[in-house]
Amino acid sequence: MIEAFHKAISTGNQNTYKFALGRAVIEEFGNDRIIPLIALAGRFADYYFKNHQEFKLRETNNPSQDPTATLILRKLIKYRYGDRIPPKRMPKKFREDFAEKIVNPPSGWGHSVFTYVLPCWQGAAMNTRGYYEYPRSGSNDFFEFSIDDGLIILTNDFVATLDHHKSTLLSMVILEWARFMEKFNHTPNLISKLSPKKPYRRISKFRSIFKETPALKIGLCHLCKQPLLKADFTLDHMIPFDYVYTDDLWNLVPAHRKCNSKKGARVGSDRMIRKLIERNNVLWDLRGSAAQKWIQSSAESANGLESNIILVANAAKKAGFEKVTDQEINSYS
Ligand SMILES: [Zn+2]
Repeated sequence: MIEAFHKAISTGNQNTYKFALGRAVIEEFGNDRIIPLIALAGRFADYYFKNHQEFKLRETNNPSQDPTATLILRKLIKYRYGDRIPPKRMPKKFREDFAEKIVNPPSGWGHSVFTYVLPCWQGAAMNTRGYYEYPRSGSNDFFEFSIDDGLIILTNDFVATLDHHKSTLLSMVILEWARFMEKFNHTPNLISKLSPKKPYRRISKFRSIFKETPALKIGLCHLCKQPLLKADFTLDHMIPFDYVYTDDLWNLVPAHRKCNSKKGARVGSDRMIRKLIERNNVLWDLRGSAAQKWIQSSAESANGLESNIILVANAAKKAGFEKVTDQEINSYS
């Protein structure tokens, strides 16, 4: 059964629906072997929202062939938010609406995700004329499905395997998902971004390093250059956390709470990046400090770190993270 699952997930027609379905079944399986499509669609909504909205991942190498789930998401965001920046966390009502449309897209919005992925999850059957067939009900080694009844029913074998090997199956899905996505997403920590496990954060550790190290200048906001009181002190990721997906001292700067939230998940201005590089150069030579240890652990030389920062900042912009301007931040304080 584990082999069959691996084969289903790693061969045949590859697309993100397949991985989303594999993961959704694993995550929804619990009390019942009958799983409504709307419950699976809720999971799809989570994955596609996060990938698109938080990480700006591409779901296919051909943007004119975005999967229907992404097209629905784009439309919903446009209707709901217009030109405003949508929230990073998906509102509950939005999630319900999105899930509903994944099961049943309005006419003209494309085919339902499930009419496609359920029949071909374990390889689509071909008819005598050589076309793939997508029946509205059927079965495979893992589940029976009925699109008209809006549910899938897991097979006894699959239920038994899920009972004992949930995390193994989940790891397979994440690995194959990342293998597929890395062909057209050049982004750091892709596996972590796709995986349900949150990355290990160490930002609180850095807060104390900042307070102990005068060269880190916690008295000045790196974003607006104005004095910063301790009570208002936050750490901003110069290149957004959602892109680098790790907390590193070379990327952290002191900032007013307001400036930090105004900047949001955007890359710092050229001036801010330049100041960050100068700051890191100072830390690089700060003998015997914890700050030096952290800075020197991130590159082979100060020059190497500088070129990495420029490279990563440009890559983040290319991936779709906007750049903030000095004017925007200054007009705020
Ligand atoms: Zn500020």
